[in-house]
Amino acid sequence: MSGAFGSIVELAAGLRAREWSCVELATDTLARLRDSQAAVNAFISVDEEGALAQARAADARLGAGDAPVLTGIPIAHKDVLMTRGLRTTCASRMLERFVAPYDAHVVARLREAGTVLVGKTNMDEFAMGSSSETSYFGPVRNPWSAECVPGGSSGGSAAAVAAGIVPATTGTDTGGSIRQPAALTGICGLKPTYGLCSRYGLVAFASSLDTPGPFAHTAHDCALLLNAMAGHDERDSTSVSRTAEDYARLIDANAGTKPLDGLRIGIPREFADDALEPDVVASVEEALAALRSLGASTLDITLPRLSYCVPVYYVVAPAEASSNLSRFDGVRYGHRAAEYDDLFEMYCRTRAEGFGAEVKRRILVGTYVLSQGYYDAYYLKAQQVRRLIAEDFTRAFAQCDVIAGPTAPTCAFTIGAKANDPVQMYLNDIFTIAANLTGMPAMSVPCGLSKQGLPIGLQLQANYFDEARLLNVAHRFQQATDWHSRRPS
Ligand code: GLN
Repeated sequence: MSGAFGSIVELAAGLRAREWSCVELATDTLARLRDSQAAVNAFISVDEEGALAQARAADARLGAGDAPVLTGIPIAHKDVLMTRGLRTTCASRMLERFVAPYDAHVVARLREAGTVLVGKTNMDEFAMGSSSETSYFGPVRNPWSAECVPGGSSGGSAAAVAAGIVPATTGTDTGGSIRQPAALTGICGLKPTYGLCSRYGLVAFASSLDTPGPFAHTAHDCALLLNAMAGHDERDSTSVSRTAEDYARLIDANAGTKPLDGLRIGIPREFADDALEPDVVASVEEALAALRSLGASTLDITLPRLSYCVPVYYVVAPAEASSNLSRFDGVRYGHRAAEYDDLFEMYCRTRAEGFGAEVKRRILVGTYVLSQGYYDAYYLKAQQVRRLIAEDFTRAFAQCDVIAGPTAPTCAFTIGAKANDPVQMYLNDIFTIAANLTGMPAMSVPCGLSKQGLPIGLQLQANYFDEARLLNVAHRFQQATDWHSRRPS
C-alpha cells in the first residue's frame, strides 16, 4: 500500500474497496512528508496527531456508509489560509507563531467534506512572488530538479502534489500563483471565477484579485475539490450566491462523434512572445494539435490590451497590499519588536523586522501609487485599463469557448536566477494575470517536458462561471495524453 501519486478518484475507490484504510493512507502520507521535507521543503507546519484523528473519524464515516467522495483524502493547505488551532504564518516572520482562532471558509468546507489535513504548505511571503523563494522558512525546491524553483507563490502546495506526498492541496491565485507553479511542477491547478470560493479566512494580499483554488494531478480531481470549495458565504461580501453546481457533471461529456466536436479554441495572437522558450512553444503547439484531433477547432483572436496586464497588475496589487498589510502593526497580530522608545518606533521596528524585502517593496510601491497627487495617474488609470482588458476578453468569448496558450513563458528556473531582478520575476505572470484582472476562470494542465526534462503547462481560460466546461476540455486532453502521469525520478 502506498497511495503515492494516486489520484483522488483512485484513492477514493481504494478506500471503498477496503484496499487500505484512511489511517493507513494518512500514516503513509505523513511518512512521505517527513522523508521529503529536507529535499523539497514543501511544508511549514505538520499536524501528525490531528491528521490521524481525522483519519480515524474518516474511517468511521466510510464504515457507516454514504461518506462523501473526499472522505479520508489527505490534503494540505497553503499557509495563507487560516486553520483553527494549526499555525498560519504566510511564510513570514511577522506571523511565525500566529494561530488562527477559526478556519477559512474553504478549509472548513474541505474539512466537512471529509479530507484529512496533514499540514500547511510553504510559499512566497504573503503570496508575493513567482518562485517560492521569499519564504521566511527557506525556499521550496522543485521535485523535478532540486536546483530549480517550483514556481510560486503556492510553490509548496504544487511541490507537495508533484512529489507524490498528497494527492490534493489548496492554493491562492492573485496573479497566477496556482497556475504558474502547477505548470512548473507538472500538475493541474485551477483558478476559479472570482467570488466562487469565499476569501473568508484567506489572509488578504490584493482583495480584488485573491482567489482560492485546488491543485491535483487531474482535472477530474480538481472538479471534485471545487465541488467542496465553492459556495456562497455571507462573511465575504464578494462571494457570489448561485445555485450549487456539480463541476464534474460535464467531465465525460461528449459533444459529437469526437469528444470536443464543436469546441472553438481562441489563440490570441498577442501570445506569440519573444520571451517564450522554444520548448514551451513546441509543447503548446502539440497540445493544440491534440485538442484539434479530439474535434476542437482553433481560431486566431486578438486581445489588444494584453500587454498592459503586468503594469496594471503591479499598480493594483501593491496598492491593495499596502492597505491590507497595514494591520500588521505589532499591536493586533504576530511579531512585535522587543525594544522601542515610543509607539511610532514600535510600529517601525516591528514592520522592519517582520516583513521581508519583497513585501516591503510592494508596500512602498502601493503607498506611492495611492498617494495624493499620484492616485489619478496610477491607481485610477490602472483600474480603467483593467476594465478595458476585461472588455477584450468578453469580446473574445463571443467568438470562442476557451482560450488556450502557455501558462508560463519558461520552464522552472534555477533558484536565485531571478531573485535580484524583480521585473524579470514579475514577467513570469504575463499569461496568467489577465484572468485575475478580469475575474474569469483559468487552469493549467501538464502538456509536455522540456529537453531538460522540466514540465510545461497549457493554460485554458474560459468565460465567467464556465468552470465545468474548462474541466471537461482539460479532462478530455488528459485522456488523450499522458503528461499528467509522468513523475519526477
Ligand atoms: N507572482 C505574482 C505576484 O508576485 C502573483 C502572486 C499570486 O498570485 N499570489 O504578485
